This record gives sequence, C-alpha cells and structure tokens, in this order.
Amino acid sequence: MNIAKVIVDVPASNINQTFDYRVPEKFAGVLRVGMRVVVPFGPRKVMGFVVGEAEETSFDKVKDIGDVLDLTPVLTSELIQLGEWLAKGTISFYITALQAMLPQVLKAQYKKELVRLTDGELDQQLENLFAGRHVIPYEEIEESIVAYRTIQKAVQDGDISMEYLVKSKETKKFVTMVRPGKEAYLLEEAHQDLPRNAKKQKQLLQYFIEFPDPIEKQLLLHKIGTTGSTLKNLEGKGLLETYRMETYRNPYEDGSFPQTTPLELTMEQATAIEPINKKISDKEHEVFLLHGVTGSGKTEIYLQAIQNVLDRGEEAIVLVPEISLTPQMVKRFKGRFGSNVAVMHSALSAGEKYDEWRRIHRKEVQVVVGARSAVFAPFENLGIIIIDEEHETTYKQEDQPRYHARDVAIQRGKTHHCPVILGSATPTLESYARAKKGVYHLLTLEKRTNEQAMPEVDIVDMREELHAGNRTMFSRKLKDKMDQRIGRGEQVVLMLNRRGYSTFVMCRDCGHVKECPHCDIALTFHKNTRRLKCHYCSYEEIMPDNCPECKSDLIRYFGTGTQKVEEALTQLMPEASIIRMDVDTTRRKGAHEKLLTKFANKEADILLGTQMIAKGLDFENVTLVGVLTADSMLHLPDFRSAEKTFQLLTQVSGRAGRHELAGEVIVQTYTPDHYSIELASTYNYQDFFMKEMSVRRTFQYPPYMFLALLTVSHKNQVKAVQATQNIAQMLMKAVKPETIVLGPTPSAIPRIKDRYRYQCMVKYKNEPHLRDYMEKILDYYSDNIKKDDLLITIDMQPYHLM
Ligand code: ADP
Ligand code: ZN
Ligand code: ZN
Repeated sequence: MNIAKVIVDVPASNINQTFDYRVPEKFAGVLRVGMRVVVPFGPRKVMGFVVGEAEETSFDKVKDIGDVLDLTPVLTSELIQLGEWLAKGTISFYITALQAMLPQVLKAQYKKELVRLTDGELDQQLENLFAGRHVIPYEEIEESIVAYRTIQKAVQDGDISMEYLVKSKETKKFVTMVRPGKEAYLLEEAHQDLPRNAKKQKQLLQYFIEFPDPIEKQLLLHKIGTTGSTLKNLEGKGLLETYRMETYRNPYEDGSFPQTTPLELTMEQATAIEPINKKISDKEHEVFLLHGVTGSGKTEIYLQAIQNVLDRGEEAIVLVPEISLTPQMVKRFKGRFGSNVAVMHSALSAGEKYDEWRRIHRKEVQVVVGARSAVFAPFENLGIIIIDEEHETTYKQEDQPRYHARDVAIQRGKTHHCPVILGSATPTLESYARAKKGVYHLLTLEKRTNEQAMPEVDIVDMREELHAGNRTMFSRKLKDKMDQRIGRGEQVVLMLNRRGYSTFVMCRDCGHVKECPHCDIALTFHKNTRRLKCHYCSYEEIMPDNCPECKSDLIRYFGTGTQKVEEALTQLMPEASIIRMDVDTTRRKGAHEKLLTKFANKEADILLGTQMIAKGLDFENVTLVGVLTADSMLHLPDFRSAEKTFQLLTQVSGRAGRHELAGEVIVQTYTPDHYSIELASTYNYQDFFMKEMSVRRTFQYPPYMFLALLTVSHKNQVKAVQATQNIAQMLMKAVKPETIVLGPTPSAIPRIKDRYRYQCMVKYKNEPHLRDYMEKILDYYSDNIKKDDLLITIDMQPYHLM
C-alpha cells in the first residue's frame, strides 16, 4: 500500500471524508486496511482509521502516516462498509460511526506496551529490545531499529503481544505459571540429591513429581507454604520453569454453569424452527418475527438454531436488553455452549469489555450474547442474529450515532446472507405490521411449553378505594392477597412505574412544587441525605424547612418513589421483609444480581422495584405480582405510552406462576377502562394491535408514518426559537406537500442545563431525500454551531420524544 485513505478523529462536517496519507517505508507491508493510525492533521496529530488504499493520489502535498496503532486490523472490511451505511443513515460523522463499533479501549489513544509471551528465543533485534524484561513500553519501538514487520510477525506467531494500559489494574491480566523443566525421573533424581535441610525445595519437587501439570505460581507457593526464592533455586537448576500466561477476566466463570442438552421440541416449536433452519442451510437472509408469550419456548428455539449455525462452522449474535442480561439469561447460553460464548454488557469494566471483544476478534468464541452494541461483534461468518425482546427501547442508541440495533442486525444479515430473528411476547407495532404485510416472516407460539395458563389478572379501581376511605397506596384486595401469600410462605413482587414519578416536594398550603432552576422539572427528594436532586442535570440543594413562596412549614414530599412505598409497606405489614430494587439500590456493580439472588434464596417476602424487575426474572416461589400504579406511564408525553403500558403489564404478569404454583396479578389503576390496561389483563395482543393501529392511523404516527425529530438548543431562548422556526420553514419548502412539519415546539423537557430546547418534528410517508435536507440544514448552521454554541441534534428514528 502506497497511499492510505484515512478517516481522522475530528468530528466536524467539513472533515467528514477520507484523507490521503503516504505510507512510509517502515510501515510498508505492515499497514493494512482496518488498522488505526496516528496522522498529522494541521498542526495536530490525530488518530484515524485506514478505510481504503491506493497506489497513487491526485493530491500534491500528501503527508506521511505518523504511527501505526495496531498490528492486526481492528475493523473488518464489512464493518468499514457498515460504518459508512450507519453514518449516512443516522446523519453522523463517519468517525463517530466507526468508533461506535469498537470497545472503549480502542477509541482513545491509550498507552501501550509489548508483553513477552514466550520463553523461547525471539528475533535477535527483539531480544535486544526486551533486554531480559517481560514488558516494555511501546515507545521504545519507535526509538529502536527493530522493523515493524518483525514485531508484527512475532505478534502473529503468538510470541509477544501488544497491550493497552486502560488503568494499570484494568488491563489484561497475566499470571505467572510454574511447570516442570525436566522429565519426572530427573526430578526424582534431583529430589534425592538435595540436602536434607532443603525441605521446601524437596516439597516443591515432590509436588511436580505427583502433579506434572502447570500451576499458578501464587497458588503453588501458597500450597507449599514457601516463597519465591525457593522456586528461584529450582528454576536456576533448570528443574522448574516459570512463564507468563494471559488470563481473561471472565465475570461469568464457565465452570459454574451446568451443561444442558437440547430439549425435544414441541410441535409448535418444531414448526417454528423449520423455516429458520432452512434459511440457515440455504444461506439466505430473511427476517423472522417470533411471537410467543413468556414461557412459550422462544429461547429454546434460539439455542437450537444457534447449534445448527455452529455445526456449520458459522457464528451467532444474540442481543438481549441490557436489563435482562442477568446471570439467569447468561446461564442458558453458557449452559448450552460453554466457553464458546462471549458476554458483553455495560456493567463490565472497559478492560473486561475489551477482553470479551478480543475473544471474538481472535475467533476464540462463536457466540456472543450482549446488549445493543454487541450487534457490531467482529464476526466474519455470521450464520444468525437474534434479537430477544425486540420491543425494548434500549435497542435504540440515544447518542450519536442514533441507530436502532434492529436495523443494524438486518443490514448485517443481508451482507452475511443469514436469518435475523426478532422475538417478543409483545412485538412493536412496527414489526408486527411488517410481519402481517409479509415483509417479515411471522412465527407464532400460542402455548406455554408447560401448558400452564397465563396468570389471572385482576384490575382494581383506585378511585373506588379512595371513596371507600382507603387513603393508602395499597388496595384492600392487594393487602389481603399479600397477607395470604406471605402467610403460606410464598413470595410477592410489587412493581412501581418509573423513577420520574418518584418523590417530589410540594407545599400543602399553596401547592408550590420545588423545581430545578435549570431544567423546569420537579426535583426529587432523597431521604437519606435530605437533599433535593434534579435527575436530568444533577443539580441539588438541601430540603427547605419552609415554603419559599408562602413561608408555610407544611412543605412535604409527595408522590410514590420506591423508598416511600417501602416505608408505607413496612407500616402496613411490619412483619414482612422487603428487598427494594431501583436505580439507587442497584447503582453499584453487581448489586442487581446480589439482590435478585437474595430474593431467589427466599431471604425476603416481597421484591419491590421499578420496571427493572419486570424482565427476565423467573422465581418459582412468586405467586403474586402487584402493579401499584399502572397508569403512571400512560401520561407521559409520548405516542407510544399505550404500547409501553401494554408491554409492561404483559411482561410483569408473565413473572407470576411460571412453575407449579399458580400465579395471580393485581393491577391498581385510576383508569381501569383504558384499552391498554384492559387488553393486557386478558393477554389479548391481537385486539390491542388492531385498536392501537387505528389510533396511530388517526393521529398519523408510526407505523403509518415515519418520524424524524430535530432538536435545537441554545442558552438564549429567542435564538433557539428563531433557529427552529427557520429550520421548520426550510424543511417545509423542501418536502412533499403531504409531508407534515411540526414546530417549533418546546421539547417535553424545555430546558436542560440552562439551555432552551425547541424541536421540529417531521412526519412523512416517502421522503427519499430527507437526509440530504437535514445535512443541508447542518451545513447552513455550521458557523453558528461552531462559534455561537448552537446545538442541533437529529434523530431519524426517535423513541424518546423528550
Ligand atoms: P421463552 O423464551 O419464550 O420465555 P423458554 O425457552 O425460556 O421460553 O421456555 C420456557 C420454559 O420451558 C423453560 O423452562 C424451558 O426450559 C422449557 N422448555 C422450552 N422448550 C421446551 C421443550 N421443548 N420441552 C420441554 N420444556 C421446554
Ligand atoms: Zn407554600
Ligand atoms: Zn436540572
């Protein structure tokens, strides 16, 4: 390669293209497409990705590549193309799209080092460079005469490796191992020759005579009860050898998952998997929508389809929502495929994520189970992509690039000629409508595998409770049933919707509500610190004693946060033990799993939590699920609120009675007649779909129309309105007459961090050039964006209309 085409790490609209750089002699034969480089850019040095190559360039002044950051490509050619597609589709910078596909460690310029992996002889130049050390800083290469080719070859041969220093403790871990240096009979001889008082040396040798397998040094020293110097003595005589071995920080130890074997499929499952397997063996792309209630055996279908893919030597990606990436879910995949599975989710440290990514990159695993970004796993022979709980909004990324994992999965499925399965008990209206039109292939599982009916759902009208004089947040029915279940030694799950409805502070005299001075939303009261916090900008202040408006001392916190429910519950049922699970109690790494394990071990009667408890849980002993405020979600400023309510209620109901004990669900609501609540209580997806489709048609929402949301923000309110107004007019002139442009409207959260936010919504059926118009707008405002701190964000598939 003479000329490298590089995407540089400068996210700006006038730089969103490749730049040509000359490949200097020392990198010739080393540099390949997909590697990261450092290049001079203006007065700076920046990171970049080599995305193409050429023999010559039409530019006169071409600078040299400054440094090569990788010794093997980190991006495949497929991912490079996918990056371009992603950038175009989401109106993002190419560099942003490429970086979204890689683990954090590879996004920045971390310090690097070379680690020696072999005890054998290295190339002489390398030996001189290492000079007896195990690890050397990468910069020493730059100053040395060793050719990059030599280093690259040693890396490929597995003799040395290049490591990133994330944080000294977080990078890859090495352990020192000890093994016999000579054959057993020679060890025996040496053992006899050792002087009587060399007790520890004798013990060490004795150990290896009995157990010749390599063992970790620390463990060995601990076992024998000796120090490194004893070992050194034997090492010096060539009787034992030490060497360094890489260990992956594996958060899910493989050994802890008992192996499972494929179950014999039910008729329904067999019928559903057949067309999937056909596409796998025909190497053809198709999108399947697998619609089946919780417990209908979807996961078993995933597992068997993946087995089929693995048998063909191909690879599989399984996406699950972040929140259900619990040990219970991981167990199902590790249990079937063992160490052939990499797991990726956001609770992993940067180093751990990098480890998992590398296991994929090095082809050490064929299956990845992960949250959204796992859709970019660098597999090269994909045979299937599965998205479980496809309706979950966590599949949409809310930062640049604002992509939906479903779209990326389908795009990759087309490239790899492989099927994509979307699974759900409550598919999105978009997906179900596509399946009905035949764009997706619909597969339905009607029954639960254990033939059990779904639990009964009882709707309780909370207005009647109030009229009957019950002012608590627990209806009499719920209270009675809780008493009954706990009395029988069974367990209860109580769900409260959403953190946004947690405790706010209101004056009982004048009705004044404490709001964030920067965001126009109510502050949340945190009882343990007695402080008021804004959940959008993290502003906080101390809880006042008097109302700032009328000076009354009757200022109190209101609403129903999980903390408050917990208090009320303790008053109502002092004998019941409760585990509370919400953002506050699960902030620490591993806390989520710990609480669930405690509950599974029956260390509490009641699990109380936000919607994070609705997913993926499966407890045998839970026979009652209570939803405290079913309608709090219905009143969010979002056209999907009915759909979300239906999904959540269906999902949480599936938590009860999955096993021998029959389950029951109580839903408390102030709007018992709303169709989403009524139809969820009878598990009637079909009717819900029809009803909701007609609402969407009336109000011209997806899936009848596409949406695009453009949000403008500025410190100066007038400027924000004016820019949005102007943009709305520009769009209106460009689009087709039947396309609707709404705005400027204040965003649902009109101010965040002292910036005023206005938005403009486009509803359209067919606008092939809409992305171009949007790019023109960004160009038009590029000066204001750079110099006047104007912010324009564009979301071509908005989910959170905030
Ligand atoms: P879903 O993913 O739709 O919730 P699962 O695949 O988890 O359903 O299946 C629910 C339960 O039924 C699990 O305990 C699973 O082991 C069991 N199961 C699934 N398929 C079969 C089968 N063919 N025969 C017997 N049990 C099955
Ligand atoms: Zn007041
Ligand atoms: Zn705020």
